[in-house]
Amino acid sequence: MGIRHGAEMTTFEMRFIALRCKDTIAPTGTLAQGVGAKQVNSLGEVYETKYGISTSERVYGTVAENLEGRGPCYLRTEGISAEQEESLLKAYLNMAPSQTIRWLENETPSKANVEIEGTEPYIVGGHTASGYWVDTKRATSIEGLYAAGDVAGGCPQKYVTGALAEGEIAAKSAVEYIKASPAPRQAQGPDARFKVAEPAEATIKDAEIARHVAEIETYLSQKNSLYTTEQLEEAMQIAMDEYAGGITTGYGYTEKHLNIAKEKIDDIESLTGKLSATDLQEVMYIYELKERLTVCKSVIAHLATRHETRWHSFAENWDYPEKDNIHWRKYVNSRLVNGEIKTFTRELTAEGQKNYEHQH
Ligand SMILES: Cc1cc2nc3c(=O)[nH]c(=O)nc-3n(C[C@H](O)[C@H](O)[C@H](O)COP(=O)(O)OP(=O)(O)OC[C@H]3O[C@@H](n4cnc5c(N)ncnc54)[C@H](O)[C@@H]3O)c2cc1C
Repeated sequence: MGIRHGAEMTTFEMRFIALRCKDTIAPTGTLAQGVGAKQVNSLGEVYETKYGISTSERVYGTVAENLEGRGPCYLRTEGISAEQEESLLKAYLNMAPSQTIRWLENETPSKANVEIEGTEPYIVGGHTASGYWVDTKRATSIEGLYAAGDVAGGCPQKYVTGALAEGEIAAKSAVEYIKASPAPRQAQGPDARFKVAEPAEATIKDAEIARHVAEIETYLSQKNSLYTTEQLEEAMQIAMDEYAGGITTGYGYTEKHLNIAKEKIDDIESLTGKLSATDLQEVMYIYELKERLTVCKSVIAHLATRHETRWHSFAENWDYPEKDNIHWRKYVNSRLVNGEIKTFTRELTAEGQKNYEHQH
């Protein structure tokens, strides 16, 4: 929504890749921290000491060991005590039941190490920093629009508690904004006190509504699409996976890869106008696809802009495989201008600065 309305957005290049138990995608933190399970390769060597144990380094190490022929990789649980095993079975039954079921169906963790792998990239969510560029009141660059939680960008790992705190800040700021705005027109006439006050200004124009209705009717009536929404969605996933640092390439990409990804996403986008739907549910799938394609374009533009590898495996820029603190200790931001995502950078707010505020 924000990208399409020209809001300033930030940090779409910092994707999140989770290190998960293979196939069940159950979290691995409880194994690493709860029972101190080390990451080992197929030779039984502990490799986490070589790459680091931050979230992204744990994934990076696993990908690297696999690429160098020492996979599959595991969390070493063999030999844990009966009490530790029981606590793991219970913890996972609560958090990710498929993993407990898998253990019960196969071998329990004290008998067999747990195979691990990285997930596909997550773009927006509790772990990532993508989203609207907001100030300390959580105001976006669109007047009257406030953002909180996962969609407020520039600050990863806020999770549920952070989202709640930001929600409160954003709601209070929105109320402040409404109070400072011109009063709504009061209803007139003898029964005025029973009438709902009208907004001072209609914000959605009739012509705009008519355009949307016509678009929806087109999707519901046309029958000439060569592709289904699902097929285009699949094509989108493949283009992003293979050319924009997906799981297939170990999260790596070059500028050339990204150019191909952009071309493919533009092509898929041009085909969406011909899609057809049999009901409003299917119309929604078309709009979901269109919005995901917009997000793809943002991700590609952001990945292409950051000429460094700041977060191993979250984004492996093969043209610039090192971290570059001299040029890239900054935010990559973007706006949609005439249908193209234009990127630019913003300085970090200096630590200890009295007036902690970003600029719009
Ligand atoms: C797999 C997973 C595990 C996680 N584990 C944890 C954890 O253990 N602890 C923790 O603290 N955090 C965890 N998180 C992160 C946490 O869930 C999120 O950070 C948090 O829920 C964000 O809250 P939010 O209100 O910003 O967004 P959301 O909870 O995503 O809420 C946004 C809401 O907006 C609705 N919406 C979207 N578009 C529209 C629209 N156009 N119109 C109307 N409604 C719309 C959505 O349906 C949704 O209900 C996890 C996240 C994931 C994905």
